[in-house]
Formats: sequence, structure tokens, C-alpha cells
Amino acid sequence: MSCLFCKIIEGSIPSTAIYQDEQCYAFADIQPQAPVHVLIAPREHIVSLAEGEEEDGALFGHLLLVAAKIARDKGLAKGYRVAINTGSDGGQTVDHLHLHLLGGRSLAWPPG
Ligand code: AMP
Ligand code: ZN
Repeated sequence: MSCLFCKIIEGSIPSTAIYQDEQCYAFADIQPQAPVHVLIAPREHIVSLAEGEEEDGALFGHLLLVAAKIARDKGLAKGYRVAINTGSDGGQTVDHLHLHLLGGRSLAWPPG
């Protein structure tokens, strides 16, 4: 198994855990783009949002709620952004679905 995030989730590559449960693992981004930059990945290897099926709906909803919970725990009362880069035009570089939670500063829009 060659997936970087699967290795992080199983613990064979170290990471800084932020939150975990039976469905997902959240960890600090190694190259943070904001004071808070957390990645939330399902334990199940799903390549991207584009591979999502109807049966993944509950899991996808859970990932969003985990992002909101972490944002609350991190004190991001002024707001934050949740992003899912998808495919090459979307800027996805790791082919294991993950949400970026970014906060702790004012974020520009639109992104580049
Ligand atoms: P994306 O470009 O949306 O696929 O996001 C991949 C993210 O993974 C980037 O923000 C990287 O900084 C991050 N990343 C890459 N390798 C690691 C690692 N070993 N630990 C934590 N984050 C990583
Ligand atoms: Zn994976």
C-alpha cells in the first residue's frame, strides 16, 4: 500500500494527531498555510470527492461535522475555511480524500 495518508492513519509515518474516531483521523498539515491548518481524512481509502458514492454520504457529512468541531475546539470563533482540493485542476496532491481546515487569520477569496 503506497498511499501517504493511509500510512499516516495506520501510524507508520508520524503525524501530529488533532482528533480521531472510528471513521476519520485529523492531523496537522506539515506545511501550514494558516495558524490553524488541519487535515481531516477518512480511515477508508477514498481517492477524492469525485469518487464519492451515495453510500458515502453519512461519512462525508461526518467529516464536515468533525471539521466544525475542531474549529470550535481551536477557538476559531471569527470563522474559518474548509476546502477539499479535488483532482489536478483542484490542486489535489495526495490521492486520499481529505478536508483542509484553515483558520486563525483572515483568508482571501477567490483562491489562486
Ligand atoms: P492537497 O494538495 O489538497 O492534496 O493537500 C495535501 C496536503 O498534505 C498539503 O497541504 C501538504 O502540506 C500535506 N502533507 C503532505 N505530506 C504531509 C505529511 N507527511 N504530514 C502532514 N501533512 C502532509
Ligand atoms: Zn489512502
